[in-house]
Amino acid sequence: MSNRLPLVRTAGELRKTVQGWRKHGEKVALVPTMGALHDGHLSLIKLAKKYADRVVVSVFVNPTQFAPHEDYNSYPRTEEQDWHKLAAGGADAMYAPNVHEVYPGDFATRVEVAGVTQTLEGISRPHFFSGVTTIVAKLFLQCLPDVALFGEKDYQQLLVIKRMVKDLNFPIVIVPGPILREPDGLAMSSRNVYLDARERGLAPQLHAVIKDMAFDLVAEREVEETLAQGVARLESAGFRVDYLEIRDAETLLPLEGIVRQPARVLAAVYLGRVRLIDNVAVLPE
Ligand code: AMP
Repeated sequence: MSNRLPLVRTAGELRKTVQGWRKHGEKVALVPTMGALHDGHLSLIKLAKKYADRVVVSVFVNPTQFAPHEDYNSYPRTEEQDWHKLAAGGADAMYAPNVHEVYPGDFATRVEVAGVTQTLEGISRPHFFSGVTTIVAKLFLQCLPDVALFGEKDYQQLLVIKRMVKDLNFPIVIVPGPILREPDGLAMSSRNVYLDARERGLAPQLHAVIKDMAFDLVAEREVEETLAQGVARLESAGFRVDYLEIRDAETLLPLEGIVRQPARVLAAVYLGRVRLIDNVAVLPE
């Protein structure tokens, strides 16, 4: 790897790098990722540049957000390619710390948000959000950015981070980025590489179904009926549905009848052993 884009390995080095920028009055953005970078990640860097002079991208597969049966060991790790993508994508530093640097043997703290974590992903993946909030709180304190960007692809995660930032008074502005999709509608994800050819052919149906649901809801079809048809369509397309829900866009509380406020259709499905998540906005007139 050449030395054009700094590859930072420790929190101390990161602090020094960021302090150097700040001395010149530059604003700093952080884009946290787990690497295996795709255009969705790169779109967040592009967006970050509208809010800050410098963009740090962290690349860290965070063990505390994986349950023992999940894919921590097999999660795609493509550090060298990631570095090249970040260099081309306009990042100013890649922060890729070692797992022992982030979590020394005597690490004993967990950051936990209640409420908005206790539904959807929080039910299917009980360890997940406290792992996310713990690592994001650490990254915020290590980097001290002005702005941090999170994709709407992980819609509930975005709400959880906003809650944490408000509750713990992090002086950081959270900026959401829209979901980047493949031309056939499949939301870009590092985990899409797990799909075999047949599954990859079916996968875009997830977006097709939830997009139709959002359309129907805006046309005043009732929540209950829209959900029942959505589940039936997903199952007949070959998905196993983990959850399919229509929720208030801010609180994620369930809705009934005709939707009159900003809402979200959120889904998690399995195709074989691969778990896909996606969501779309419902914006009644
Ligand atoms: P990950 O590496 O999957 O943890 O994702 C890092 C960040 O990129 C998170 O804020 C994600 O929501 C965001 N992200 C992942 N996929 C997409 C996508 N298809 N479009 C926009 N943002 C995304």
